[in-house]
Amino acid sequence: MSRRITLLGATGSIGTSTADVIERAGDRFEVNAITAHSNAAKLAETARRLRARRAIVADEAHLKTLRDALFGSGIAAAAGASAIEEAASEPVDIVLSAIVGAAGLKPTAAAIRAGSDIALANKECLICAGTAFMALAREHGVQVLPVDSEHNALYQLLDRRDPADIRTYTLTASGGPFRSWPAERLAEATPQQAVAHPTWSMGAKISVDSATLMNKGLELIEAHHLFGLDPDALDVLVHPQSVVHALITFRDGSIHAELGAADMRRAIGYCLHWPERVREPVATLDLAAVAQLTFERADMERFPALRLAMEALRHQSGASTVLNAANEIAVEAFLKGGVGFTEIPKIVEIALTAAESEGLLVEPASVEEALELDAIARRIARADLKRRSAAA
Ligand code: NAD
Ligand code: MG
Repeated sequence: MSRRITLLGATGSIGTSTADVIERAGDRFEVNAITAHSNAAKLAETARRLRARRAIVADEAHLKTLRDALFGSGIAAAAGASAIEEAASEPVDIVLSAIVGAAGLKPTAAAIRAGSDIALANKECLICAGTAFMALAREHGVQVLPVDSEHNALYQLLDRRDPADIRTYTLTASGGPFRSWPAERLAEATPQQAVAHPTWSMGAKISVDSATLMNKGLELIEAHHLFGLDPDALDVLVHPQSVVHALITFRDGSIHAELGAADMRRAIGYCLHWPERVREPVATLDLAAVAQLTFERADMERFPALRLAMEALRHQSGASTVLNAANEIAVEAFLKGGVGFTEIPKIVEIALTAAESEGLLVEPASVEEALELDAIARRIARADLKRRSAAA
């Protein structure tokens, strides 16, 4: 029997990989809806290829292009954030959530409320509103299957395990393109250098997060919510080859690891076919060719974003909501050339301090409350950006 699927963020890095997994699976999937921000041409081409029922573009200025490109295909076209939410609200077997940033929250929450299982790539759902999201998923009895490679690895490692037997949960980090750069050079790092990730090919925002190590901090918060883990049981290891994705250490000292090629189609296929395993077009890892696996501790002096995220995780309040929002603003400004690379964690830290002194660090009770705090944190970070450009 075929499974009905909706793909949010179909034109991005994860979306493109997902479309490939779906297409290769033949008639196992029936695509209900696919969405994108503004790339109407790519969205239409993907909708035709996947024989989707409808295609929705967030930016209404691109509706005409989408309609024209879909003419004669029988695929319905629509536009606007509310149309995306509506499409996400149609019950299907699984919704793959791959919009980038806090923009992914409302449609993903709508999908949970409709009772659809979620394959979650949009980690911001859990960083911005983790407690509320997981409660919503439990309330509606939906599965949240992690697409993020480290969490997907943990999900596989934890299958049928007794949590009482496990002492530590370790996520690996490639270390990003600046892993071996001296501190004084980091201030000069350009957006182009930051998005050139050594082992993974990803969207611009997450690539910058990988370069600052913020991504690994966000992933610790993500793991905490997904698996209900104590912050003290979570650990990070820098592993430049990106072959080992996560490890669990049992109380008897035994360590189990998940290994695989750095290709997101592995994790995506795992989630879409779960609990079955099927053949994916991913090269089997040749360990003899890799030859060496190395591990080192993360340097939180050069990469303070990781420390900030760890502190936000321990704070267990609205701190990770503020961290996420300020980081999105700072990364966007960095990508546009407005601020330097080393200013990103500074903008985040200032937003956290300001939010704390204004008494805003309270755990959001719902996705809506989290989005309100997210909006306030964005205003704080934008005001800081303004001061910086005035001072420059
Ligand atoms: P991307 O920038 O390549 O793609 C983002 C997608 O979201 C695009 O389809 C875009 O059209 C859509 N989008 C952007 N803003 C939108 C808006 N306001 N409204 C509606 N749609 C919007 O990003 P990506 O690298 O594919 O990452 C997607 C998500 O998956 C992120 O949350 C990221 O952290 C997570 N993730 C990505 C990878 C990876 O390998 N790329 C790995 C792990 C997790
Ligand atoms: Mg990851």
